[in-house]
Amino acid sequence: MGTTTAVDYDVVIIGAGVAGIYQVKRLTDLGMRAVVLDSAGDLGGTWYWNRYPGCRFDSESYTYGYSFSKELLDEWHWVERYSPQPENLKYLNHVADKFDLRKHMQFNARLDHATWDDAAGAWQLEVSDGRTITSQFLILALGLLSAPTMPRIPGVEDFKGQSWHTFFWPHEPVDLAGKRVAVVGTGATGIQCIAAIAPEVGTLHVFQRRPNWSSPLHNGPISAEEMDEIRSRYDEIFETCARTPGGFEHEPDRRGFYEVTPEERIELWEQLYQQPGFAIWLRNFREIFTDEAANAEFSAWVADRIRERVEDPVIAEKLIPKDHGFGVQRVPMETNYFEVYNQPNVRLVDISETPIERVTETGVQTSAEHFEFDVIVYATGFDAITGAFDRVDITGVGGQSLRDKWADGPETFLGMAVNGFPNLLMPSGPQSGSASTNFPRGIEKGVEWVTGLISYMKEHDHERFDVDRDAEVDWAEHVKAMYATMLMRKAKSWFTGYNSNVDGHEEGKVRYLVYNGGAPKFFRRAERIAESGYHGLTFD
Ligand code: NAP
Repeated sequence: MGTTTAVDYDVVIIGAGVAGIYQVKRLTDLGMRAVVLDSAGDLGGTWYWNRYPGCRFDSESYTYGYSFSKELLDEWHWVERYSPQPENLKYLNHVADKFDLRKHMQFNARLDHATWDDAAGAWQLEVSDGRTITSQFLILALGLLSAPTMPRIPGVEDFKGQSWHTFFWPHEPVDLAGKRVAVVGTGATGIQCIAAIAPEVGTLHVFQRRPNWSSPLHNGPISAEEMDEIRSRYDEIFETCARTPGGFEHEPDRRGFYEVTPEERIELWEQLYQQPGFAIWLRNFREIFTDEAANAEFSAWVADRIRERVEDPVIAEKLIPKDHGFGVQRVPMETNYFEVYNQPNVRLVDISETPIERVTETGVQTSAEHFEFDVIVYATGFDAITGAFDRVDITGVGGQSLRDKWADGPETFLGMAVNGFPNLLMPSGPQSGSASTNFPRGIEKGVEWVTGLISYMKEHDHERFDVDRDAEVDWAEHVKAMYATMLMRKAKSWFTGYNSNVDGHEEGKVRYLVYNGGAPKFFRRAERIAESGYHGLTFD
């Protein structure tokens, strides 16, 4: 690669989260001039921003860490089975410091415009601090859930108390003791946050538009002895994660749903409800994801668990989803969430019945009532997967904008490259294996694939690659076909690009954002493509 001295960097990586940290390590290990830019004040990505109470993994901690360094695996003690945000941020800082990666990172530097300069064979990057940087490669490690969305409710700006989106939870301590608090939104974030703050607040009002299926996380400490045992099994753990569709230790029950009796099904479900993490979702019968009747039977069983836990039967019914079955949206994991509604100071406000009309200076006005608050928390989600890309002006060959190209949904090659956008790579982009798996497991492989491609180009003296349009169309069709059998294609969730607060994403139209064929299939395909000399890419 001969032109690299004419540009500022060989590679600019955007995003200092789990993907960006590992990506810069791999590239600088190869002697490349690489830098990471991040709009945040420090590294950590998701774990830098999301500081709301209750924020924690619902992947097993020891499956979330990087697998590339035995020394790192041996020295790190995950203190909880589902590690909380402060610990996760500490871990990522430890990794960056251990491998001396901070010197390659620049913070408070948001990428605003990225323009491919065909004559120079480089990306021109305009950064929020006023600089223009040139780089041969641009790697977008932007995160899948990093573009938070506020609700489009009139008056949000008028509120005179404290309010914020959970993503922007203040870095300084927040004292909620005795306060009148509202939470809007009951996704995975809202459910974690509500359960964590309920014991502390004066009063809590939960504004719920649609309930979510949720089941117990069963978190707990990991003792030194248990951690030793985990360390001795790391190879086996990562092998299992690499084999399972979701990248977890959880493997689906191989028996057919209809091959066993209803009693045997209940026996399995009773066990799974007591098991930690996503076992209830991912160790279940595979038909839960594809067969309406099987899903309905299981959902009815979970609904009864909710009825057992919530004292007021009217509230219990409001907490049971009626518009979608269990597991067709991303399942939030909870700790005493349903019991919160048995507290006398907690009230569920069903805004599907009495919609919020506006936020006022002092609280929230629904069609039925005005509520006064000290604090309003918006747990209203993200413009998922493509949102962070849409927030940057990315211009490829012939002035084509990525935002326009993806207006009706993304089209990519393996979720890692895009036709018309040369030398642009995404280790965990839309339609990639990382987007539908235990994120770090997919991210690590994505980073390695991206690194492999750049090394290959270096070895073969290639300056530039672009994706063949045919290869991109093939991938888009394959991704679409993988949705065909999944019940999740019918759900209003971020898996399909639904977000009522983003223009064009409000209703029904499915966007093929994630790869549903399972991580092993995805990465086998990616490896085969690499082995073929990157069939589907054209090099100059
Ligand atoms: P989400 O699942 O999209 O939930 C957003 C919530 O806000 C929904 O209940 C939604 O209601 C509600 N909402 C949105 N706009 C609203 C409006 N205008 N008025 C009233 N309600 C509104 O977002 P999230 O909870 O932040 O979770 C997103 C993803 O982040 C999760 O699925 C998960 O993958 C990830 N996450 C992971 C962890 C973890 O690993 N531990 C923790 C938290 C989140 P509707 O359902 O009616 O739209």
